Amino acid sequence: MTPAVPAALFADRLRRAGEVAADQDVELLLITPGTDLRYLIGAVGASHERLTCLVLPAAGHRAPPALVVPKLEAPGLAHLPLAELGVEIVTWTDGEDPHLLVSDLAGGPTTVAVADEMPAVHAFGVRDTIPEATFGLAGPVLRELRMRKDAAEVAELRAAGAAIDRVHARMGEFLKAGRTEAQVGADIAAAIVEEGHTEAAFVIVGSGPNGASPHHELSDRVIGTGELVVIDIGGPLPSGYNSDCTRMYAIGEPDTAVLDAYAVLQGAQQRSVDSVRPGVTAEQVDAAAREPIAAAGLGERFIHRTGHGIGLDVHEEPYIVGGNSRTLEPGMAFSIEPGVYLAGRWGARIEDIVVVTADGCERLNNNTHDLVIL
Ligand code: ZN
Ligand code: ZN
Ligand code: ZN
Repeated sequence: MTPAVPAALFADRLRRAGEVAADQDVELLLITPGTDLRYLIGAVGASHERLTCLVLPAAGHRAPPALVVPKLEAPGLAHLPLAELGVEIVTWTDGEDPHLLVSDLAGGPTTVAVADEMPAVHAFGVRDTIPEATFGLAGPVLRELRMRKDAAEVAELRAAGAAIDRVHARMGEFLKAGRTEAQVGADIAAAIVEEGHTEAAFVIVGSGPNGASPHHELSDRVIGTGELVVIDIGGPLPSGYNSDCTRMYAIGEPDTAVLDAYAVLQGAQQRSVDSVRPGVTAEQVDAAAREPIAAAGLGERFIHRTGHGIGLDVHEEPYIVGGNSRTLEPGMAFSIEPGVYLAGRWGARIEDIVVVTADGCERLNNNTHDLVIL
């Protein structure tokens, strides 16, 4: 069962979403099933051709929030504290146009922000029923809330970090020369669930030259002696909060050139973690990882941002990337995952999730950062 979020917490999130919307001159939020909706009122199915949509007026607009939902799915919402939250349920039946219901609730021309993940069929459907309205995305509103984790959310991310650490600690059971990436990946996926996740959301096993592709898909390549292997794995706990951790393994001792580059990467990752504290910007944390890698002549080999926020989504704000001048605040959670990739030869990445604290950060992944030689 999904751990219950207290109704008071959802009430607070709904109120704050309305306030941030008003600050951003948005009059109405339209949120379809996805992580934004889960954050605001709890888990609600999935989006499909039948419209389910939270209609949430900004602060200062009188109408109460409403959840437009297909009549046949209304019984499935019994687990949500909608009455306590003052959210009215508005059902519709097949044959009706639910987009007209939304425009009735909107009550005329307005400034509307739709969930980033709203299916286009519904975004355009609503737009066509309120042609005078101005439409934008709700992401900039929701990110202001979701980016700053409360204590219960941090506790979930900490538990997720510990769960994926337990999977990495078992890697010697799975990762052996002579096995294929796909065989190793299947065992890891099972372990991810055994250790408390509801599913293995992603399993990257990048052996030898495949390690040079950061988002490599599992293949039938046989893992050989002397090779480096990138293992980047994660998934959600029952609460919906995700883990994401990369560690590096070698099947037997690699050559010194590889070990030297690995030492640079390890130092860069530690330097970036050490740079995290309130008041530092996201791009400064990116630079802290990038500078030593560039100084070692590997700057061109570090081909992606240093990290991404994590929570109900594996990738969310804040992004740890050059050009992001967002100032870090306590409660922000994100990955620090510099990598170096030598096409056709090998790649390496080290990834931890960290949470910003009052005077630094807490690391949520605590297995060794050394290259693990199996
Ligand atoms: Zn990724
Ligand atoms: Zn990541
Ligand atoms: Zn990862």
